[in-house]
Amino acid sequence: MDADTGRATAGRTTGEAPGGVSGGVSAGGEDHQRLLEEAMAAALALPARGRSADYIPALACADPGAFGMALATVDGGLYGVGEWRRPFSIQSVSKLFTLALALAEGGDSLWQRVGREPSGNPFNSLVQLESEQGIPRNPFINAGALVATDRLLELTGDAAGAVRDFLRAESGNPDITTDDSVAASEARHGHRNAALAHFIASYGNLRNPVDSVLAHYYAHCAISASCADLALVGRFLARHGLRADGSRLLTRSEAKRVNAVLLTCGTYDAAGDFAYRVGLPGKSGVGGGILTVIPGRGALCVWSPGLDRAGNSVLGVAALDALTTATGWSIF
Ligand code: GLU
Repeated sequence: MDADTGRATAGRTTGEAPGGVSGGVSAGGEDHQRLLEEAMAAALALPARGRSADYIPALACADPGAFGMALATVDGGLYGVGEWRRPFSIQSVSKLFTLALALAEGGDSLWQRVGREPSGNPFNSLVQLESEQGIPRNPFINAGALVATDRLLELTGDAAGAVRDFLRAESGNPDITTDDSVAASEARHGHRNAALAHFIASYGNLRNPVDSVLAHYYAHCAISASCADLALVGRFLARHGLRADGSRLLTRSEAKRVNAVLLTCGTYDAAGDFAYRVGLPGKSGVGGGILTVIPGRGALCVWSPGLDRAGNSVLGVAALDALTTATGWSIF
């Protein structure tokens, strides 16, 4: 099939082997390509598709049944099925990179401004912020991501640019960029995020003007990247903090901590169910992407725009569930 444009049901794509793994079979004898195909087939066999996010109008027209999945291994293998080369709006998956970069650039002091407990509330909730005096529960709800974005802006002067450049470097894809129409659509309909940002600022927990923080937040959420791109990027967490060029972004301990927050807070108010079904740290976004980390082995990214009530991709979670159940690739 055409790996770039083929529909998810059209059959297999070809595993690539930049690091010397060939034919989809790893040195350990696992047929990664076949495992992905089986996971995709298991997901597509389900009747449920979910609904595309419609609160950001630019995302509403996505086909809930579209599907792609990619695996990038720490030893350089890259495998994919369905529309694994098709860019999509990464949305909240970007919050993982904002957090990692803010920690890498600025260290642990971020944790004085944002917590690391599951929120038990919807990702864009306002109520908790008041009772907790402007300290968001964790960096993956919108309030916490706004604080992490503000911190990265403080440290780099260009938070969205830092995220974009990091994705380009780790994936080797210089074309990764923000979809300005998605960012503009979000800004036009972003009353709730603006309310969150002003509320946080009222407690003194933003260092930059609210409008700048929001602009950078929308711009990193509106980055378009494919499953292949994101799986390649996610390897820095599978490599315990090491970047693609071998330099260190995070200490081993910091990488462990980011993975822990991903596991407990990365998939909205359904992180418990995601841990139960998939058993891997992961971050989802309302564009339908989910990036998961298999420590020591690689990173998996799945995309399908139909979302469940919590905001996670229906087919994406199903495919990850099928794959980790079949392989035992889990941290448990
Ligand atoms: N940019 C989206 C928002 O702020 C991100 C939501 C998400 O993917 O969870 O609503």
